[in-house]
Amino acid sequence: MEKGQKGIITIDSVASGGDGVGRIDGMAVFVPHVCRGDVAEVTIYKVKSGCAYGTVTKFLKLSPYRRKDFCDVADCCGGCDFAHMDYEEQLRVKRQIVVDALMRIGGFVNVNVGDILAAPRPERYRNKMVFPFDRNEEGKIMGGFYAPGSHTLVPLTDCRQGDEAVSRWLAAAVAYLEETHTTLYNEHTHRGAARRLFIRLAEGTREAMVVLSANTKKLKQPELLVEKLLAVDTTYQLKSIMLNIHTEADNLLLGPKNKVLFGQDYIEDVLGELRFSIAAHSFYQINASQTERLYQTALSLAEVSDKDTVLDLYCGIGTISLFAARQAAQVFGVEIVPQAIENAKENARRNGIDNAEFILGSAETIAPQLAKCGVSPSIVFLDPPRKGADEATLDAVIAMHPEKIVYVSCNPATLARDAKYLYAQGYQLKEAIPADMFPNTSHVETVVLLQRQNT
Ligand code: SAH
Repeated sequence: MEKGQKGIITIDSVASGGDGVGRIDGMAVFVPHVCRGDVAEVTIYKVKSGCAYGTVTKFLKLSPYRRKDFCDVADCCGGCDFAHMDYEEQLRVKRQIVVDALMRIGGFVNVNVGDILAAPRPERYRNKMVFPFDRNEEGKIMGGFYAPGSHTLVPLTDCRQGDEAVSRWLAAAVAYLEETHTTLYNEHTHRGAARRLFIRLAEGTREAMVVLSANTKKLKQPELLVEKLLAVDTTYQLKSIMLNIHTEADNLLLGPKNKVLFGQDYIEDVLGELRFSIAAHSFYQINASQTERLYQTALSLAEVSDKDTVLDLYCGIGTISLFAARQAAQVFGVEIVPQAIENAKENARRNGIDNAEFILGSAETIAPQLAKCGVSPSIVFLDPPRKGADEATLDAVIAMHPEKIVYVSCNPATLARDAKYLYAQGYQLKEAIPADMFPNTSHVETVVLLQRQNT
């Protein structure tokens, strides 16, 4: 097979990452934006050893699992790679992605993978959105999302992943930038000011935060930005408007410092009976209605009792830690982002929880220190970012001999890798429960229970 070659393909599965897979002349070909059951003519654009990559040039038969009209820009915007798939099919595919990763990467056979937890609201669920800016051909400022793998802006009118308020605040911020002739940041020259608009909503309290990230310590007429944002009519209450000072030439989402322009530097949300403060820099699950169910699943797999000491590695603002603390004897949370640890401590205080201690630092340095000091948790929660936990962290967890490890993961591949590592050290994979935290995208969350084998 070679680049430029055309062939007819029947898509028979969808792989992790969201591409459909079929075969041409016996070779697996990965194709974006297709469904199981599509038959199409594809043109090959890349060939690797053992597989090839193609794009559809013509559909010959459309899959019954397709749906129409979810979004006009789904094919060019990087946001929703499953927008064309009906929701039942998305769920089926995601569960299969988890099964495949645990089998192929983890080497597990006969894994007990439960039903996927479907999202109660498979659209307008995102509570955080970040929009870069650019200018259109007429020189007018627009905000939106980048097309996949590029810095080409797909302008946003209304995104069905987020609340309608979001596009209105974006329009208000764009109007402010135009009116004040604020320049846009150029990542090649490192000049210009406005970089991104960051919006976070708290569904439980209807509070909102809007942050303009800019390559400057001082905005032009910041009161005009505040005025325009506050004038937007929504069911959310803006509690925090900030300038994020982002003067480094990195591609981080936010610079290190915020300046409050209106209100406070955090918003609050309610999950179950607990109330949480959330700073702009802190991680917070992006699908609030699914978050409670995700945590309930993790806690019910852990079966925390008042005899347990719990270690929550990668604890963010202390959400899992504080739910666990209500049932446990003692909880330790570890997290690398200082603002998140500040939130976690405050969240323990405000919820009247005094058996949770939060430690700032990386899991890979703090977990070995805790092991050395003789901390011996009976339950460890691991909820790392996409790259998974590293071996120093896993080795320290193993050295602490917890009876149960509950691993919450947003990346089945690294989950499978880490579960395999833990299995080799005597932890049996008892159960995996996928959860759809990210409808209309190929992303899937999984909660796994690993139990120490009695030797
Ligand atoms: N359990 C939390 C957070 C999960 S997201 C929740 O459900 O909200 C993963 C978290 O790990 C983020 O808060 C991130 O800041 C943190 N993190 C990333 N790398 C880390 C590391 N090396 N050590 C500790 N925490 C880390």
